[in-house]
Amino acid sequence: MVVVMKLNSAQEQIDRVNEWLHNRGFQTHMIKGVKRIVIGAVGDKRSVAMASIEALPGVEKVMRVMKPYKLVSREYKEENSVIKVGHLEIGGQRLVVIAGPCAVESKDQLVTAARAVYKSGAAILRGGAYKPRTSPYSFQGLEEEGLRLLAEAGEETGLATVTEVIDEASLNMAVNYVDMIQIGARNMQNFRLLQLAGKVNKPVLLKRGLSATVEEWLMAAEYIITSGNENVILCERGIRTFENSTRNTLDLSAVALAKTLTHLPVIVDPSHATGKRELVGPMSRAALAAGADGLIVEVHPDPQVALCDGPQSLHPVEFDSLMAGLRPLAAAVGRTL
Ligand code: PEP
Ligand code: MN
Repeated sequence: MVVVMKLNSAQEQIDRVNEWLHNRGFQTHMIKGVKRIVIGAVGDKRSVAMASIEALPGVEKVMRVMKPYKLVSREYKEENSVIKVGHLEIGGQRLVVIAGPCAVESKDQLVTAARAVYKSGAAILRGGAYKPRTSPYSFQGLEEEGLRLLAEAGEETGLATVTEVIDEASLNMAVNYVDMIQIGARNMQNFRLLQLAGKVNKPVLLKRGLSATVEEWLMAAEYIITSGNENVILCERGIRTFENSTRNTLDLSAVALAKTLTHLPVIVDPSHATGKRELVGPMSRAALAAGADGLIVEVHPDPQVALCDGPQSLHPVEFDSLMAGLRPLAAAVGRTL
């Protein structure tokens, strides 16, 4: 439930309500809005009467959150969450573009990609060091060496960094090197990994599972937040449908829907969604028009020889013209890029 405090309620009143809820077994989260304090409380509401909370000094009203997810819901928090990633923010006025290769392959490959995407206006560098590949014979990533290269490239260019983790060991290793952790589509319902990501002090980019409903996706985000990390960014990356002429089907209605259901930022991955380089531009523009807070795009200095996802990776020149085309669009939707 959500306990809405009165405007100008005193700190002692807030503390008292918080303690009252704690004593009755509720886990509480303080949300400081622009105007007032709201206390989110998760627990067994059968143990308390709503009226007894409403009677506490400083309380304006108590509302039940009817959705199965609580902390991620708009009912719980009305205002958009703005999540800090390194020195920047996702979910604010500025649209954030994350770009870089699918996998970190070598120092030369990564540095060339990093310099190029920085020059074109990307804010965050992506690069997989642990790749969850469909085939065990495919390139699996450089692991810690890849993380080290990513950190170096981030430092040289000033770009923040993001990388995917696939288990506890890679998570514990990655937090030492990058600004944001990615949980991939294949691990969206790896509940143990979600809980572990809830214990680290880095923001988490949570991709939607290949066949996950929007509700399941939001429940996955709830796992991370209830475990202690409220810095979650959602990413729509296409879902499996009967259509096989694109790698996946980009579900932009899920982006617009998620923005109504949750206060968390939502970004779009047009690369994995389509699997086709020539569709990345149109789908990026569509994503921003649908209300996405940013994009994650695969860019490789030489897509022909990429060890992973070459056919969907943009050449730096193509990425540069994509970014140029997005600027007027950003302005049209009242954002900056
Ligand atoms: C990736 O970002 O390289 C990736 C593997 O994405 P997804 O989990 O969306 O397939
Ligand atoms: Mn990829």
